Amino acid sequence: MPMPSAVDLAAHPLTIWQGPLGLPDFTRIGDGDFSGVFDAALKAHEAEIEAISGNAEAPTVENTLAALELGGEALDHVSSIFWCRAGAHTNEAIQALERDISPKMSRHFSAISMNERLFARINDLYQRRETLKLDAETLRVLEKTWKGFVRSGAKLDADGKKRLAAINEELSSLGTRFGQNLLADERDWALFLDEADLVGLPEFLKSAMAEAAEMRGQKGRYAVTLSRSIYEPFSTFSERRDLREIAFRAFTMRGQNGGATDNTAVVRDMLRLRAEKAKLLGYASFAALKLDDTMAKTPEAVHMLLDPVWEKALEKAASDQAELQRLAVEAGSNEKFAAWDWRFYQEKLRAEKFAFDEAELKPYLQLDRIIDACFDVATRLFGITFEEKKGIATWHPDARVFVVRNADGSERGLFLADYFARPSKRSGAWMSALKSGYKLGHGSKPVIYNIMNFAKPPEGKAALLSVDEAKTLFHEFGHALHGMLTDVTWPSVSGTSVSRDFVELPSQLYEHWLTVPAVLEKHALHVKTGKPMPKALVDKMLAARTFGVGFATVEFTASALVDMAYHARPDAPEEPLRFEAETLERLNMPGTIAMRHRTPHFGHIFAGDGYSAGYYSYMWSEVLDADAFAAFEETGDPFNPALAERLRKNIYAAGGSKDPEELYTAFRGKMPSPEAMMVKRGLV
Ligand SMILES: [Zn+2]
Repeated sequence: MPMPSAVDLAAHPLTIWQGPLGLPDFTRIGDGDFSGVFDAALKAHEAEIEAISGNAEAPTVENTLAALELGGEALDHVSSIFWCRAGAHTNEAIQALERDISPKMSRHFSAISMNERLFARINDLYQRRETLKLDAETLRVLEKTWKGFVRSGAKLDADGKKRLAAINEELSSLGTRFGQNLLADERDWALFLDEADLVGLPEFLKSAMAEAAEMRGQKGRYAVTLSRSIYEPFSTFSERRDLREIAFRAFTMRGQNGGATDNTAVVRDMLRLRAEKAKLLGYASFAALKLDDTMAKTPEAVHMLLDPVWEKALEKAASDQAELQRLAVEAGSNEKFAAWDWRFYQEKLRAEKFAFDEAELKPYLQLDRIIDACFDVATRLFGITFEEKKGIATWHPDARVFVVRNADGSERGLFLADYFARPSKRSGAWMSALKSGYKLGHGSKPVIYNIMNFAKPPEGKAALLSVDEAKTLFHEFGHALHGMLTDVTWPSVSGTSVSRDFVELPSQLYEHWLTVPAVLEKHALHVKTGKPMPKALVDKMLAARTFGVGFATVEFTASALVDMAYHARPDAPEEPLRFEAETLERLNMPGTIAMRHRTPHFGHIFAGDGYSAGYYSYMWSEVLDADAFAAFEETGDPFNPALAERLRKNIYAAGGSKDPEELYTAFRGKMPSPEAMMVKRGLV
């Protein structure tokens, strides 16, 4: 019987990819196709899960673990194209679908993790794991799968499961409320100024403030708002000390203004529920639960990183403050140096010490040349090459397609890159995969892409980048290499499927090669003269990187330490804000620097779960990348072949196939220490 309305997953261009080079045939995909294909693909995956969990045969790695990993292929295919479109080339239809599909997907995957018959089969394999003669990667995948179920509550009794579900639901709605309260506080506060109040402000800030005022119905005036992109430059440039103080107080009180949008009680309840959840799942604290599958593993290891950095940062900040105070006195100020003076005098010092213009650098950073530099470094380190294929349809005509080849000429995978900003693209820069690389089953070659938001140049002109943009290009390309060089068997540990405190290593490490002299000499060529960047300019660019580091490290690390203090205790504080104050006092926090994120507006850790007990990981990654690059510096050769091979094998190719500690040690010969990062930051 023909069923005209049903989607044929075995023939649809969203699920069966028959375009050039094995890409989806984007010319045959319409926006209206997604919804029906999603529904059919979800059903197909449900049926696969049912077949695995209802299998009458005893569980084996083949019929359970491998079947689970290889299942849902149609869903993977339609999802990867859909989320690519949602980020890189969206429209109202795609956005409406997004709101519909997100909850469907989360229900689908939570049903799988709650499937008791499925867990029974995984648990059976897990209990027999020692006798199954598994290779190390398979054993790790089995353990990770089992742990994933357990962390979702699979081992709890019925009451426990019910309580866990209630806690999760409550935490998720509290997290949403936290974010919305914060947004409301940021939206509702504004300080309206007139032309005469703008002494010292640069043009870009004045126009942003004019627009902010107009949006709030005060056309012709200027608004200081609590958006970081206005607040920070305002407190950096405004000559009006009184106004800087007002802005500082408002900024640091976000989420703590009483009334309906106050986050104090939200935080108290969240900390209480998180502690209860950890206990229910058998962990000593919420931090222990969150850190269990990371590289750091324990709160103690996090402190071994943060504590020495904190001491050095305090010293550096104290000596920086003394210098800034001198500057303030010279400028005629007789007020006590305060938190709202720091950025202002720091900028005066920067202008004096590192007077150079970004505009001087830009002509040397042509987009096409910097792309060449990314490829060239990858060829020198890892032997892979890139060949552009023109005229292939993708999600947008701007996206470019490259075939990636191994040193022996065999095809490794595809790299797609979409560099220019447009209204249909969300802001930021990222890496993702249309397909990940793995060997299980018939195997799959990686199809990886990078999305950027560089300004598109007029026809016939070269696109020029700022230093930050060139760094971003290297950063995202480092993530892309993590996806493209992957050499694992199991899909769930492919490429960037690693813990949060390890995933930024391949990307941040890659940034280091942008400023290697040999790379700049070859690729940073002036757009008109073709001459390389003069050494004096390179030196100034490099020296400016460590400026202001005392302040930046103190404000960041204070937030990371308070995050850890909240979550590493077995219970929850009755009054979080008092606990915050006591923690800062114990740490000798300088009165002239505020935490980068105070508790009532610390969205990373309270507007959802993302970085709770995890704010440290930004710095952890920096420790890793500095220590890893130091390995090359120690050999005197930034392309040392033996080291590059160890880097490829243990970091870029290994995905999550082994414990990150084991991988890092195999590359470096030891665990990282914070010294190289402190040197890079200029703290020692
Ligand atoms: Zn990144």
